[in-house]
Amino acid sequence: NNLNLNPLQRGGVLPVEARKALYEFSEGYSVCDYCAGRLDEISKPNIKGFLDDLANFINIDHARTVHGAREGKFAVMHALCKPGDTIVVDGNAHYTTHVAAERAGLNMVEVPNTDYPQYEIRPESYKEILEDLSDQGEEVSLVLLTHVDGNYGNLTDSSSIGQIAHNAGVPLLLNCAYSMGRMPIDAKKLNADFVVGSGHKSMAASGPIGVLGLKEEWADIILKRSDRHAVKELEMLGCTSRGAPVATLMASLPYVIERLKNWEEEVVSTRKFVDKMEQIEGVKQLGIRPTKHDLVRFETPILDKIAEKHPRRGFFLYEELKKRDIVGIKRGQTKWFKCSIYGFTQEQKDYIGESFTEIVDKYDKK
Ligand SMILES: *Cc1c(COP(=O)(O)O)cnc(C)c1O
Repeated sequence: NNLNLNPLQRGGVLPVEARKALYEFSEGYSVCDYCAGRLDEISKPNIKGFLDDLANFINIDHARTVHGAREGKFAVMHALCKPGDTIVVDGNAHYTTHVAAERAGLNMVEVPNTDYPQYEIRPESYKEILEDLSDQGEEVSLVLLTHVDGNYGNLTDSSSIGQIAHNAGVPLLLNCAYSMGRMPIDAKKLNADFVVGSGHKSMAASGPIGVLGLKEEWADIILKRSDRHAVKELEMLGCTSRGAPVATLMASLPYVIERLKNWEEEVVSTRKFVDKMEQIEGVKQLGIRPTKHDLVRFETPILDKIAEKHPRRGFFLYEELKKRDIVGIKRGQTKWFKCSIYGFTQEQKDYIGESFTEIVDKYDKK
């Protein structure tokens, strides 16, 4: 019954259909009754049809489910690059990009963000880095971009960055963990060769499950079959997500397709929420302004000031919010926080904004 502001969880809330699927397919191999050797070709339940729908949903040629966005990134890196290869990644990349690259033995060159207060990733910066590397005679195997990052909720210009990568002869892997399922994704328009998404983060699935989409021209490499087990796809280790994780994602897709229609409104109400929050003196939104995503990060020196004198110190915010049935802000954190009001009713959104104002007013007696 609590209102959870943790951005990580706002896009993963299950609709009723998915809760039913979770129960129905709770056994691990429950989708495998009619399998003829390929998970992605099972027609009952209709995984095959679902993967086609998923590919259409993000406008790309092939889709597979994997265990998370990270496994999707690793599969692409592993199939496409050799250990010692160089890849270019954005300075706002998620840690899973770093560990996937490390596991694949790759060197990462980072494209810096614009630093405080916007932390923006600019196409020009990608161009510069790629030109520098080319001048040094360094070959780049893959360019990676975080479509929307998890620290600032900055939406990047994938279309331009994809073009820049292609001009340098390098494919683009777009990490849509925070975008696919929340906002419309058109991989072709975004100039992405590969996209990954996260079912449990942004596609209303129980997970763990991710989505990997790829263009036809890369299918031979990424979907290469085993020599020994002729039907099994190597990077998928034969079979990927089965049972409840894939069943809930399947059950949720129609709901997710429907909710994307509200994306513009979600952004508008997030901007209104930011305005309301910034009426509190000592609260400021970081990242791109006005925001283009539901994840917003605030720096909150006023909360820090209150914490200094409050008997509960840094815990006061968490506890005051909890009294109001609001959760999802890390305990003890007052210098800054990130949050999302995605998917709440307008009434709930207003209530959340008012609660913050009330809490600051209560303690910040000038
Ligand atoms: C959450 C997140 C991930 C990890 O997603 P999984 O599906 O859990 O692997 C990757 N990238 C970004 C930007 C994220 O925010």
